[in-house]
Amino acid sequence: LVFRPELSWEFLSSDEIDAKSIRAVRNHVRHVKEVSAFYRETLFDIFPEDIKSLADIARLPFTEKETLIDRAPSFRAVSEDLVVESMASCGATGKRIIFPLTAVDLERLEFNEALSFYSAGVSSSDRGQLFLHFDQCLSAGIAYYRGLTHLGVNSARTGMLSAEMHKQYFDLLQPTILIGAPSFFKKLAAELAPLGFDKNKSSIRKLFCFGENIRTRDMQLNDLGKALEAFYNAAVFSTYGSTEISSSFCECEARCGGHGHPELVYTEIVDEKGTPVPDGTVGELVATPLGVEGNPLVRYKTGDITFKIPGKCPCGRNSMRIGPIVGQLSQMVKMQGAFLYPSAVATILDGIDGIEDYLIILENDEAASDRISLHIITPPNNMEKISGRMRSELHVTLPLLISNAPTLRHLRGKTGRETKIIDIRKRGGQPGARSRG
Ligand SMILES: [Zn+2]
Repeated sequence: LVFRPELSWEFLSSDEIDAKSIRAVRNHVRHVKEVSAFYRETLFDIFPEDIKSLADIARLPFTEKETLIDRAPSFRAVSEDLVVESMASCGATGKRIIFPLTAVDLERLEFNEALSFYSAGVSSSDRGQLFLHFDQCLSAGIAYYRGLTHLGVNSARTGMLSAEMHKQYFDLLQPTILIGAPSFFKKLAAELAPLGFDKNKSSIRKLFCFGENIRTRDMQLNDLGKALEAFYNAAVFSTYGSTEISSSFCECEARCGGHGHPELVYTEIVDEKGTPVPDGTVGELVATPLGVEGNPLVRYKTGDITFKIPGKCPCGRNSMRIGPIVGQLSQMVKMQGAFLYPSAVATILDGIDGIEDYLIILENDEAASDRISLHIITPPNNMEKISGRMRSELHVTLPLLISNAPTLRHLRGKTGRETKIIDIRKRGGQPGARSRG
């Protein structure tokens, strides 16, 4: 993989990108039928040479998350001696699956993030500070770190420390870009303010935000995004990715949707029947990562709900762009006659001042109807405002409970302090918990 971002497929016309994507998916299908026991079996009646159009790709079978979890070993496409790193992903049931990565897969992750940061105007004159986990078999930290160093960015892995420590690091390192979860940046802001953080003297220019939305459906900054820009005096960029799809979608300098890199991933948005939807229509993100060696996938249904932004980006790239993640299919709740995504509730809570912490719990009763309860640590006089925002933006009335740190710790159990949504609905399987991001 030679890093020549100016030669990326992204700068070709959409027709040329489509033609290259069709050829790439055709070769990908040919390859996975050779190396993956799962695809040898499920694509037995698919002949790669018959893939001649986007419509032909849309007829290939999907790969579901549950299948990937249940049949993980049959997806593995390389022998053990080629695997250099094991990463993990967590399904809705909390069960972990291991992703074997080869040296090429690691380079590919690096290449992906380097393309993303490059498009966002990051260069070797920047200094980066990374606020995320580098352990627990997670991919994001390694991918961002390698992407930055690929561009020659002086990168510091400080992780999530106390505000005092971060203040010291800001003074010592003079970072120009920060990478982390937006809710973490907001929490840090509240702690930095009394320590004398001066945004006008700060070196920070850009915040790369993953795991939570910083934009609304109409692509404007939401409350959280606005609060971060105001506090840090820096531009916020949204980035989305996952271990499964070995790809990420990051906003460029124009900041109007996350670009997928067509040489690395073929992306579709489909409706509940699996039919591709028109640009701008909300549906499930389906990704076919290209060039993955360890655990290749075809038409993987991510469960993440978003939409494709139509037209060419002002930055000149024609690559597919996605909007914010509207919600997760597995967490969709039917209540008061409407469908609701708990992450939309989280986005509202993330944007309201005075909320120290919160937990959203999804339950169901014997009639199998869904319930959401919100456990919030906030002063009581904040509750009317929170309740009003839920009614005006989501058109539902949700039960709000004032909580405290020990209760949230107890409710989270082993799921970790970053968990915002716990799903204990019974649906024949185990209850699940997942943190966002
Ligand atoms: Zn762009």
